[in-house]
Amino acid sequence: MTNTKIEAIGLASRKPFYTVDFPYLWGRLLNTNGVIFGSGLVHFTDWREVRSLDIASGEAGELMWRLEKRVRGLHPVLRDVKVTHRWGGPILMGAEWQLIFAQHPQSADAFVLGAYSGHGVALSVYLGRWAAEVMLGRRELPKWDVAAE
Ligand SMILES: Cc1cc2nc3c(=O)[nH]c(=O)nc-3n(C[C@H](O)[C@H](O)[C@H](O)COP(=O)(O)OP(=O)(O)OC[C@H]3O[C@@H](n4cnc5c(N)ncnc54)[C@H](O)[C@@H]3O)c2cc1C
Repeated sequence: MTNTKIEAIGLASRKPFYTVDFPYLWGRLLNTNGVIFGSGLVHFTDWREVRSLDIASGEAGELMWRLEKRVRGLHPVLRDVKVTHRWGGPILMGAEWQLIFAQHPQSADAFVLGAYSGHGVALSVYLGRWAAEVMLGRRELPKWDVAAE
Protein backbone atom coordinates (compact mmCIF):
# COMPACT_ATOMS: atom_id res chain seq x y z
CA MET A 1 0.00 0.00 0.00
CA THR A 2 1.31 3.47 -0.82
CA ASN A 3 2.09 6.01 1.89
CA THR A 4 -0.80 8.18 0.66
CA LYS A 5 -3.22 5.30 1.14
CA ILE A 6 -1.76 4.44 4.53
CA GLU A 7 -2.26 8.04 5.58
CA ALA A 8 -5.81 8.04 4.22
CA ILE A 9 -6.81 5.03 6.35
CA GLY A 10 -5.27 6.57 9.47
CA LEU A 11 -2.29 4.24 9.90
CA ALA A 12 0.50 6.76 9.21
CA SER A 13 1.66 6.47 12.83
CA ARG A 14 2.14 2.71 12.15
CA LYS A 15 0.43 1.88 15.45
CA PRO A 16 -1.52 -1.39 15.69
CA PHE A 17 -5.24 -0.81 16.18
CA TYR A 18 -8.58 -2.42 16.84
CA THR A 19 -12.14 -1.25 16.29
CA VAL A 20 -14.71 -0.79 19.05
CA ASP A 21 -17.46 -2.82 17.36
CA PHE A 22 -17.69 -6.58 17.93
CA PRO A 23 -16.12 -8.88 17.12
CA TYR A 24 -13.03 -6.68 17.42
CA LEU A 25 -11.39 -6.04 14.09
CA TRP A 26 -7.70 -5.49 14.69
CA GLY A 27 -4.73 -4.85 12.47
CA ARG A 28 -1.22 -3.62 11.99
CA LEU A 29 1.08 -2.59 9.18
CA LEU A 30 3.87 -4.86 7.98
CA ASN A 31 7.33 -3.58 7.11
CA THR A 32 6.34 -4.10 3.47
CA ASN A 33 3.41 -1.66 3.94
CA GLY A 34 0.91 -4.45 3.61
CA VAL A 35 -1.66 -4.70 6.40
CA ILE A 36 -2.69 -7.65 8.56
CA PHE A 37 -6.35 -7.61 9.60
CA GLY A 38 -7.97 -10.10 11.91
CA SER A 39 -11.17 -10.76 13.76
CA GLY A 40 -13.27 -13.44 15.34
CA LEU A 41 -13.00 -16.80 17.01
CA VAL A 42 -14.14 -20.28 16.04
CA HIS A 43 -15.41 -22.37 18.95
CA PHE A 44 -14.85 -26.11 19.24
CA THR A 45 -16.51 -28.71 21.41
CA ASP A 46 -13.19 -30.64 21.35
CA TRP A 47 -9.79 -29.02 20.71
CA ARG A 48 -8.85 -31.85 18.31
CA GLU A 49 -11.19 -30.28 15.79
CA VAL A 50 -8.40 -27.75 15.17
CA ARG A 51 -6.61 -30.47 13.18
CA SER A 52 -9.33 -30.71 10.57
CA LEU A 53 -10.34 -27.07 10.51
CA ASP A 54 -10.59 -25.60 7.01
CA ILE A 55 -10.56 -21.82 6.95
CA ALA A 56 -12.21 -21.85 3.55
CA SER A 57 -15.44 -23.44 4.76
CA GLY A 58 -17.89 -23.69 7.64
CA GLU A 59 -17.80 -21.24 10.56
CA ALA A 60 -14.18 -20.24 9.82
CA GLY A 61 -14.96 -19.59 6.15
CA GLU A 62 -17.91 -17.44 7.17
CA LEU A 63 -15.67 -15.46 9.55
CA MET A 64 -13.12 -14.86 6.79
CA TRP A 65 -15.82 -13.71 4.41
CA ARG A 66 -17.28 -11.34 7.03
CA LEU A 67 -13.84 -9.97 7.92
CA GLU A 68 -13.02 -9.15 4.31
CA LYS A 69 -16.40 -7.49 3.88
CA ARG A 70 -15.83 -5.35 6.98
CA VAL A 71 -12.30 -4.41 5.86
CA ARG A 72 -13.57 -3.32 2.44
CA GLY A 73 -16.21 -1.21 4.16
CA LEU A 74 -13.78 0.58 6.49
CA HIS A 75 -12.60 3.11 3.91
CA PRO A 76 -12.94 3.64 0.12
CA VAL A 77 -9.18 3.00 -0.21
CA LEU A 78 -9.78 -0.56 1.00
CA ARG A 79 -12.80 -1.32 -1.19
CA ASP A 80 -10.83 -3.26 -3.82
CA VAL A 81 -7.81 -4.17 -1.73
CA LYS A 82 -6.13 -7.47 -2.67
CA VAL A 83 -6.09 -10.18 0.00
CA THR A 84 -2.90 -12.20 -0.46
CA HIS A 85 -3.04 -14.61 2.50
CA ARG A 86 -5.70 -15.98 4.78
CA TRP A 87 -4.97 -17.95 7.92
CA GLY A 88 -6.00 -18.67 11.48
CA GLY A 89 -4.42 -20.23 14.54
CA PRO A 90 -5.23 -21.67 17.93
CA ILE A 91 -5.14 -19.91 21.30
CA LEU A 92 -3.09 -22.03 23.69
CA MET A 93 -4.91 -22.93 26.90
CA GLY A 94 -3.20 -25.16 29.44
CA ALA A 95 -4.92 -27.96 31.34
CA GLU A 96 -7.18 -26.47 34.04
CA TRP A 97 -6.37 -23.05 32.52
CA GLN A 98 -2.93 -23.33 34.14
CA LEU A 99 -0.34 -21.23 32.36
CA ILE A 100 3.26 -22.32 31.95
CA PHE A 101 5.99 -20.47 33.82
CA ALA A 102 8.95 -22.74 34.42
CA GLN A 103 12.67 -23.07 34.01
CA HIS A 104 13.62 -24.70 30.72
CA PRO A 105 14.18 -28.42 31.41
CA GLN A 106 17.56 -28.34 29.61
CA SER A 107 18.89 -24.89 30.48
CA ALA A 108 19.31 -23.02 33.73
CA ASP A 109 19.50 -19.79 31.70
CA ALA A 110 16.12 -20.03 30.00
CA PHE A 111 12.48 -19.90 31.06
CA VAL A 112 9.39 -21.14 29.33
CA LEU A 113 6.30 -18.95 29.45
CA GLY A 114 3.02 -19.50 27.68
CA ALA A 115 -0.54 -20.86 27.61
CA TYR A 116 -1.87 -17.42 28.44
CA SER A 117 -5.37 -18.42 27.30
CA GLY A 118 -5.82 -15.27 25.25
CA HIS A 119 -4.50 -12.84 27.87
CA GLY A 120 -0.92 -12.75 26.61
CA VAL A 121 -0.64 -8.99 26.14
CA ALA A 122 -0.77 -8.28 29.86
CA LEU A 123 0.60 -11.62 31.13
CA SER A 124 3.64 -11.73 28.83
CA VAL A 125 4.79 -8.34 30.08
CA TYR A 126 4.03 -9.06 33.74
CA LEU A 127 5.57 -12.55 33.76
CA GLY A 128 8.47 -11.54 31.50
CA ARG A 129 9.48 -9.04 34.13
CA TRP A 130 9.05 -11.66 36.85
CA ALA A 131 11.24 -14.11 34.87
CA ALA A 132 13.95 -11.45 34.56
CA GLU A 133 13.90 -10.99 38.33
CA VAL A 134 14.21 -14.76 38.81
CA MET A 135 17.24 -14.78 36.49
CA LEU A 136 18.82 -12.07 38.62
CA GLY A 137 18.21 -14.14 41.76
CA ARG A 138 15.85 -11.54 43.24
CA ARG A 139 12.64 -13.55 43.09
CA GLU A 140 11.35 -17.14 43.16
CA LEU A 141 9.27 -18.87 40.52
CA PRO A 142 5.58 -18.94 41.44
CA LYS A 143 4.43 -21.95 43.45
CA TRP A 144 1.19 -22.24 41.49
CA ASP A 145 2.92 -23.64 38.43
CA VAL A 146 2.23 -27.35 38.96
CA ALA A 147 4.17 -28.16 35.76
CA ALA A 148 7.36 -26.85 37.40
CA GLU A 149 7.02 -28.91 40.58
C1 LIG B 1 -3.81 -12.55 16.18
C2 LIG B 1 -3.54 -12.46 17.65
C3 LIG B 1 -4.47 -11.86 18.47
C4 LIG B 1 -4.22 -11.78 19.84
N1 LIG B 1 -5.13 -11.17 20.64
C5 LIG B 1 -4.86 -11.00 21.93
C6 LIG B 1 -5.76 -10.28 22.77
O1 LIG B 1 -6.81 -9.78 22.32
N2 LIG B 1 -5.47 -10.15 24.08
C7 LIG B 1 -4.33 -10.68 24.61
O2 LIG B 1 -4.09 -10.50 25.81
N3 LIG B 1 -3.46 -11.38 23.85
C8 LIG B 1 -3.69 -11.54 22.53
N4 LIG B 1 -2.81 -12.22 21.74
C9 LIG B 1 -1.66 -12.89 22.36
C10 LIG B 1 -0.51 -11.95 22.66
O3 LIG B 1 -0.27 -11.10 21.55
C11 LIG B 1 0.74 -12.81 22.97
O4 LIG B 1 0.41 -13.75 23.98
C12 LIG B 1 1.89 -11.96 23.45
O5 LIG B 1 2.22 -10.99 22.49
C13 LIG B 1 3.09 -12.86 23.72
O6 LIG B 1 4.16 -12.02 24.09
P1 LIG B 1 5.61 -12.55 24.05
O7 LIG B 1 6.45 -11.38 24.48
O8 LIG B 1 5.71 -13.82 24.78
O9 LIG B 1 5.87 -12.91 22.51
P2 LIG B 1 5.88 -11.93 21.25
O10 LIG B 1 4.98 -10.75 21.44
O11 LIG B 1 5.65 -12.86 20.09
O12 LIG B 1 7.37 -11.40 21.22
C14 LIG B 1 8.46 -12.22 20.86
C15 LIG B 1 9.47 -11.32 20.17
O13 LIG B 1 10.68 -12.04 20.00
C16 LIG B 1 11.17 -11.80 18.70
N5 LIG B 1 12.00 -12.94 18.33
C17 LIG B 1 11.60 -14.19 18.01
N6 LIG B 1 12.67 -14.95 17.77
C18 LIG B 1 13.76 -14.18 17.93
C19 LIG B 1 15.15 -14.42 17.85
N7 LIG B 1 15.65 -15.61 17.53
N8 LIG B 1 15.98 -13.39 18.08
C20 LIG B 1 15.50 -12.16 18.41
N9 LIG B 1 14.18 -11.89 18.54
C21 LIG B 1 13.33 -12.89 18.30
C22 LIG B 1 9.93 -11.63 17.83
O14 LIG B 1 10.22 -10.90 16.67
C23 LIG B 1 9.01 -10.85 18.78
O15 LIG B 1 9.19 -9.45 18.69
C24 LIG B 1 -3.02 -12.31 20.37
C25 LIG B 1 -2.08 -12.91 19.53
C26 LIG B 1 -2.34 -12.97 18.18
C27 LIG B 1 -1.31 -13.59 17.25
